[in-house]
Amino acid sequence: MTTTTPTTSDAPADADRRLLNDLTRRELEEWCVSQGAQKFRADQIRKWIYGKRVNDCDAMTDVPAPLRKALATEFAIFSSTISKHQKSVDGTEKLLVKLRDGEHVECVLMREDDRRTICISTQVGCGMGCVFCASGMLGLTRNLSTGEILEQVLHLDRLLSPLERITNVVVMGMGEPLANLANLLRALESLEEKGGLGMSTRRVTISTVGLPDKIRELAKIDKSYNLAVSLHAPNDTLRNELVPVNSKIGIEAVLAAADAYFETTGRRVTYEYVVLRERNDAPEQARELGKLLRGRNAHVNLIPMNSVSELPYADPFAERLREFVAILEQSGVTTTVRKRKGADIDAACGQLRLRQELPVLPL
Ligand code: SAH
Repeated sequence: MTTTTPTTSDAPADADRRLLNDLTRRELEEWCVSQGAQKFRADQIRKWIYGKRVNDCDAMTDVPAPLRKALATEFAIFSSTISKHQKSVDGTEKLLVKLRDGEHVECVLMREDDRRTICISTQVGCGMGCVFCASGMLGLTRNLSTGEILEQVLHLDRLLSPLERITNVVVMGMGEPLANLANLLRALESLEEKGGLGMSTRRVTISTVGLPDKIRELAKIDKSYNLAVSLHAPNDTLRNELVPVNSKIGIEAVLAAADAYFETTGRRVTYEYVVLRERNDAPEQARELGKLLRGRNAHVNLIPMNSVSELPYADPFAERLREFVAILEQSGVTTTVRKRKGADIDAACGQLRLRQELPVLPL
């Protein structure tokens, strides 16, 4: 069963207030100093927002009143509102978040044993054009700011009970994270820094279509983020069809950059492979993929296609998928099949927004 509750969280920020979460910890410290306050006030403010889930500056009782007032005048803690909230029977919750300019992005909370994993977006739409993906159907509208990325974390965090904490972050929502790398890194740094969620980089996974220069740039900062590369095909002919941006890049360059990422960070790279019925699920394609990845310190995560009603792709037959896994394992490549979460809500990312933008589509 699905429940959809239209909700509004805090009132959206008026256009002349800045987003508080656009500031890194250091920048907030500088702002405090510019107000004649001490640096440590920044950590206090951040602790109220991240640790105590407070949305109102007045509630920050250990922050001096004049500083609280200046904070509320100059900044908005939330610039976005929740325009749709879906709950799945398996504990997964999905939000359609409305940004200040009226655009929408999606983000998800998944519960599994002790883990509370959130999936966040980095762009409105996507410019990569993967043929099976709902997020890219309308192209790229714009990058999210650091604050807009963090507000998704805050909205999702506030769905948790007082005893629950976010344990993992996957950057696998709408958009291509490495095409908005600077804003994403500032957001992740803020989560990791004192006063944030104390989120270790090892619990963060960034998923990319595979932009080699950006992967190398990410490797250079040597932060131990987990990298997931969306491969989806074992050769360039098929990948050019499924992931059109590949025609400008090529699988070799993607793999070389991912190898370099592993060498620098020591983090094993995951290769995601959306399994599409009778497009990329044949035994010979599994053998080709095995050959490509054998000997690399890699792990394959097969994602059965999440159907998108507007797109002509389906998930593989169970037998075909089992055979695909078996062949990869025989080639010596560790393989997992992603468990479907939130199957009863619009699980494929980008679908909620698509319906928002194109309300005439069948529901
Ligand atoms: N731009 C990033 C993040 C995309 S979302 C990337 O390409 O990795 C994360 C994963 O979900 C990607 O592997 C993406 O290809 C996959 N995905 C997109 N649409 C899907 C669908 N309908 N079913 C299953 N997986 C999908």
